[in-house]
Amino acid sequence: MPDTDSKEVVLHGIAASPGIAHGQIFVLLQKELEVPAYIIDPSQRDAEVSRFEQALLVTRQQIMKVQAEIARKVGEEEARIFDAHLLVLEDQALIEETIREMEAKGFNIEASFQRVGQRYVDAFGQIDDEYLRERASDIRDVVRRVLQNLTGQVTHNYGKLLDQRILVAHDITPSETATLDRGSLLGILTDVGSKTSHAVIVARSMNIPAVVGLRTATHRLKHDDWALVDGYDGLVIINPGERTLFRYGKIQLRRKSVEKRILAAARGEARTQDKERITLMANIEGAGELDKVLEFEADGVGLFRTEFLFLNQPTPPGEDEQFAVYREVASRLAPNPVIIRTLDLGGDKPFCGSLAEDPETNPFLGFRAIRYCLEHPSVFKSQLRAILRASSFGNVRLMFPMISGVDELLKARAFLAEVQAELRAEGVAFDEKLLVGSMIEIPSAAMTADIIARESDFFSIGTNDLIQYLLAIDRVNDRVAHLYEPTHPAVLRCLAQIIEAGRAAGIPVGICGEMAGDPVYASLLIGLGATEISVSPSVLPSVKFFLQQIRISDAKKMVEELMREHEPKAIQARLEQFYRQHMGELGSLIENNGA
Ligand code: PEP
Ligand code: MG
Repeated sequence: MPDTDSKEVVLHGIAASPGIAHGQIFVLLQKELEVPAYIIDPSQRDAEVSRFEQALLVTRQQIMKVQAEIARKVGEEEARIFDAHLLVLEDQALIEETIREMEAKGFNIEASFQRVGQRYVDAFGQIDDEYLRERASDIRDVVRRVLQNLTGQVTHNYGKLLDQRILVAHDITPSETATLDRGSLLGILTDVGSKTSHAVIVARSMNIPAVVGLRTATHRLKHDDWALVDGYDGLVIINPGERTLFRYGKIQLRRKSVEKRILAAARGEARTQDKERITLMANIEGAGELDKVLEFEADGVGLFRTEFLFLNQPTPPGEDEQFAVYREVASRLAPNPVIIRTLDLGGDKPFCGSLAEDPETNPFLGFRAIRYCLEHPSVFKSQLRAILRASSFGNVRLMFPMISGVDELLKARAFLAEVQAELRAEGVAFDEKLLVGSMIEIPSAAMTADIIARESDFFSIGTNDLIQYLLAIDRVNDRVAHLYEPTHPAVLRCLAQIIEAGRAAGIPVGICGEMAGDPVYASLLIGLGATEISVSPSVLPSVKFFLQQIRISDAKKMVEELMREHEPKAIQARLEQFYRQHMGELGSLIENNGA
């Protein structure tokens, strides 16, 4: 339990995933270990080597124990990550070089091992091949672990992650989040990151409370510290005292009861008070989220981020493997649709394994999504084949990400036509009327939406990227997160222009960015004329409940006024007021956290 004599310390960050967690800390990436360096007497060398061998052995046992537990609790696939760590421990060159270093320079074994290990990490880090370069982090991890065992600074081991813990890391990648075991994870805290980083999107879909952009969390929090995570308000309270725990206990109870009431109320369709039907769909990263999608009675899946099937894989999933997943999603949702988005790797979802690409200075402005697919026909075509084959098992729609102009769309469509012709020639069934949409998430696409609309069956606006590119705010950078303003007049005008282009062309316009999943902004999107929105399954009931309380005509009237506003903060305030007005008692219960 917390040390009652210690004072509470409150850290402020970005509220990234709602929920409250209380527990002990697991620091995933700690600050540098302190490794003592001293000259030893030559007569002590044998004893130093024995200490080294013992530390290697203990490290091996620790890793194998964790590997076995991960295999049991998470899966064989995930456990294989540790094979690479075990190989480092067996590397004779590394071991012998350490002993030679000790003999040549006369320092103790941990100082010698640290130097040699660092040389290995640096050498691997400079290799051109991405796969080999990634081995540098395996070596770094193992070296650190051995050093902890040698210096007695074993503050944590992999196994501890399997306890119920709050994970603290400098940063966390989407793939790391996706492989974390929900059962053992109470919350996530990171130094960097923002609301729309993909790691956070995954945390939200796993219902893990998260606070990001804390800047100094890895320095301020130590392994085994007690902390309370407030994912609603973006706070972390280190060493929470009894009063705080009591207050948060009440908040949590109130939140839970509100969530329960919303869940019970938000059944059936998303129909507004003035009887307008909004199509409310869900965003998913894999078939594992379908139970929630069905439970919350979504109108289908508005965004299937297929690149999550490619993360953490040494080789990309083949056509049949992808087909099996797409078919499962399509058939379980039928007759409701699933919009399958083609591969959107790049940005904060790096290409890995055999698809690895050279690192880029500005990955969000680089080789990402459709740009990659158009240059890698075999990867692209095998995904298109898998999607088309799945289309005869349900209501499948296809969507291309990161379209910057009509040329790119036409090139992508040409690949699709080629694959369709191949399947016809092979006598393989697929939906001949498959609808093909474009994501509008780059300002150049927004500006030319009228042209792109002629070649698209529907639009889906990706506000996460659209805002980042429109306002020049890196969506994963906490330093500028406060400038990421969905209520900037430029965003409102841009959204209005895209929706109008879709309306004029007679095609539906949906919104699938995180903005749609915040009820405060949902009224803005609906008021602007969007008729389809797609949100994370975890927030689907609250968005549906809110839509059921409002009148479209009121939202439209409000948006007319907002289009004349100049100040993002004034727009935000008006939207929050509209939200409060319509949420009634439940809204104030949510807001009065401190009461
Ligand atoms: C978006 O950009 O808004 C979007 C939905 O796609 P992603 O978050 O996967 O980039
Ligand atoms: Mg996007």
